Amino acid sequence: MTGQDGSYLAELLLDRGYTVHGLVRRASTFNTHRIDHLYSDPHHSDTRFFLHHADLSDASRLLELLQTTAPDEVYHLAAQSHVRVSFEEPTFTGDITGMGTARLLEAIRLTGAECRFYQASSSEMFGSSTPPQHEDTPFQPRSPYGAAKLYAHWMTRSYREAYGMFAVNGILFNHESPRRGETFVTRKIARAAARIKAGLQDRVYLGNLDAVRDWGYAPEYVEAIWLMLQQDSPQDYVIATGTASSVRDFARLAFDRVGLDWTRHVHYDQRYERPAEVDALIGDPSKAGRVLGWKARVLAPELAAIMVDAEARALAGQAPE
Ligand code: GDP
Repeated sequence: MTGQDGSYLAELLLDRGYTVHGLVRRASTFNTHRIDHLYSDPHHSDTRFFLHHADLSDASRLLELLQTTAPDEVYHLAAQSHVRVSFEEPTFTGDITGMGTARLLEAIRLTGAECRFYQASSSEMFGSSTPPQHEDTPFQPRSPYGAAKLYAHWMTRSYREAYGMFAVNGILFNHESPRRGETFVTRKIARAAARIKAGLQDRVYLGNLDAVRDWGYAPEYVEAIWLMLQQDSPQDYVIATGTASSVRDFARLAFDRVGLDWTRHVHYDQRYERPAEVDALIGDPSKAGRVLGWKARVLAPELAAIMVDAEARALAGQAPE
């Protein structure tokens, strides 16, 4: 619930009248800044937003929460979600991103909860498959994160087929926003562009500039997530813009936004390279268009502008989005 997508999805669900129960990991530092604005005094009788401490490593806690909250819909967005980090912590990533999904599916099965289930699958599962990638493209993951997501993806399908669960996989391509984690490349670039413009730093170090991604806007992607659970039958969907940009393109767009020449400020540092790289992820979202009636509206140039402007506003002391 504390991540980018959890925060946007909670807003969407609350807007549509849902009661929302979010799971939060206990940490020694505050980790709820993305959802603090949604949290009101629980003593008010009209509160529809509740947070619970839980962790995907703790199966009994998942069982307990499914029993006590009896959800109609479960959106599983929790993961160790950083590809580069997954090379440093491969078994932790496997335990949380992969096995954590199995624990949650088992908890649903064991409690007999009558709920629909959404699994956050990932374009990273396509790895070295040739783009454009669609629902039937073979998976060839290139990272511990991609491999863990693929296990979770197949477990979700397996529970759908074995137990008739309404369980769907949303294969989302990269989706970004001002709430994206600071170490993902779009946010890192947007933040650097705004800070350099403000005179707070002079350069930013990046790894592979040639990587190509299909970057969309996260608030639109949570609409697709919600739509998947409202259909008559459970199916898997690719969610993407269908357009490609390189890291270099995104850097140019972001620095152009503040009137700076990116080539003067972006420097190379080998430490941001991955042991194995995914060269190009470009989604084919035709099925989502046909079945869900969903289409991405914000493409990379507008996305870069949204993100850089948000960073500039934050630097000026204005409230984040
Ligand atoms: P990912 O697609 O889930 O791995 O999302 P990221 O935003 O972490 O990375 C997108 C692409 O940007 C990958 O191909 C990275 O190798 C590339 N990249 C280049 N420099 C950097 C960097 O400094 N940080 C990150 N996170 N990615 C970088």
